[in-house]
Amino acid sequence: MELKGRSIIGWGSGEPGGRTFTAINPATAQSMPPSYVCASLQEVDRAVRLAAEAFENYRRLSGKDKAAFLREIATGIEGIADALAVRTSQESGLPEARIRTETGRTVFQLRLFAQLIEEGSWVNARLDRPDPARKPVPKPDLRSMWRPLGPVAVFGSSNFPLAFSVAGGDTASAFAAGNPVIVKAHSAHPGTSEVVGEVIRAAARTRKMPEGIFSLIYGAGAEVGMALVKHPLVKAVGFTGSESGGRALMDAAAARPNPIPVYAEMGSTNPVFLLPGALASRAAQIAEGMHGSVTLGAGQFCTKPGMVFVPAGPGAEDFAQALMRRMADSPAQVMLTPQIHSAYNGLVAARSKESSVAVVAEGEDSSSVPGARGKATLFAVDAREFARNPGLAEEIFGPSAIVVSCANRAEVIEIARGLDGHLTATIHGTEDDLREYYDLVEILEQKVGRLVFNGFPTGVEVGHAMIHGGPYPATADGRSTSVGTQAIYRFARPVCYQNFPTSALPDELKDGNPLHIWRLVDGSLTKD
Ligand code: NAP
Repeated sequence: MELKGRSIIGWGSGEPGGRTFTAINPATAQSMPPSYVCASLQEVDRAVRLAAEAFENYRRLSGKDKAAFLREIATGIEGIADALAVRTSQESGLPEARIRTETGRTVFQLRLFAQLIEEGSWVNARLDRPDPARKPVPKPDLRSMWRPLGPVAVFGSSNFPLAFSVAGGDTASAFAAGNPVIVKAHSAHPGTSEVVGEVIRAAARTRKMPEGIFSLIYGAGAEVGMALVKHPLVKAVGFTGSESGGRALMDAAAARPNPIPVYAEMGSTNPVFLLPGALASRAAQIAEGMHGSVTLGAGQFCTKPGMVFVPAGPGAEDFAQALMRRMADSPAQVMLTPQIHSAYNGLVAARSKESSVAVVAEGEDSSSVPGARGKATLFAVDAREFARNPGLAEEIFGPSAIVVSCANRAEVIEIARGLDGHLTATIHGTEDDLREYYDLVEILEQKVGRLVFNGFPTGVEVGHAMIHGGPYPATADGRSTSVGTQAIYRFARPVCYQNFPTSALPDELKDGNPLHIWRLVDGSLTKD
């Protein structure tokens, strides 16, 4: 497909002129044609207005029709898998094999949401039957279900150019809930965004969706994204990226005359706790797994384990030595963008200068190889210094971690209590360890969205039970998930209908349950 370098606005395109930018191949530092034209504020407005018009039609479609649209997109993406393997790999520095896996994840996600809405019970239909004879006041007929919100703005992420980008989880869940989507393309992968965007547009035409169901707008810098978040017809925002970017969008959305929810997935350092029994029996094995998880994808996963707490005792030194050896042997890896690479280098340099922190291992020197390559770096500190310096718990996005030595159980628990919100926490232990550290799990439950036992947090399964979220600052709203089918509830809200005749109700709430979905009738789940 020939790349045009223009925004996709409904069935039309952005106009030429105005500011432009190009993708940069982070492996070579070469810019990649074509030039991408940043959308004007008028074009942002047009995309949102078209979306608002499309909503009036799209919100009324059946789950089956919306599912067919999602499946059409999935099939279209499979059809461009070879092209993506080349272009996305060049734009992101991620290996082709990873891009193919991510393509599979993206289409799986779309089909999972298709299945969910075709089945239909996700709307959480509830019926409380009336009792006109109830004294002293009659009981009304109450029926509720989840309804879509309206146009959703999605910010594609740099580190998942497919699965968290133009046709990623935010877009899939927003479409599934019944909302049009306007994507702000990430400026690191504009070509990938365009080819995927054209697939969505073609699917929308094939499935006779209303114009405006989807738009893709380009804009390097804050202006275009901010205009989208502040637009009065945008009803919610999905975002994955930096804490500063996410927070700026949250603040802008909250300052609107009519504030809207921003579902921002931001930074996370994903604490790992090694408990004595596990450490004594398999220190080297844990170090191997930890190294794999820290350096996977050049450490550019929001679930990368960035800090590990190690109590003194048998195995502690073996673990530290084994992890140091592996980190020192790590090759330098291409990072997503030159900016992310230089931010990584800056954070590593700043941490290296902390007097209480030791740099205990460094991988291949990245300055000897071309491109934006990150050098694996392992830091060490003791628990007291860690507790004194909150900056040490902050995310360094890249192949780096810090080992925190704890003198005893009390220090481990104190550190856990002091943690901010994260996406995940991991415990390596035995059942005896869990009995001994019974309070650790209870503390961590309050700090994260997912607790991992004897594993590693990278590799986020897409399913019905997955939670990829966590208290602020990991996400803007710790009650939500951006991965898995429960992500749909971010872009819907419950509505209750009181005393309506069945003919005027949505099919999901009608007498006789014509869609044959699971409903909670007078407190009992039933398909009757
Ligand atoms: P980012 O700078 O937050 O950008 C993400 C998206 O938001 C981009 O489309 C960006 O526009 C837009 N944006 C950022 N700040 C904005 C603002 N103030 N107003 C309006 N739009 C704004 O994230 P990134 O470029 O992917 O990476 C930068 C850093 O974010 C990384 O070094 C890393 O620390 C962190 N990060 C974390 C995760 C995670 O999952 N924890 C994932 C990715 C990145 P442009 O396209 O114009 O830049």
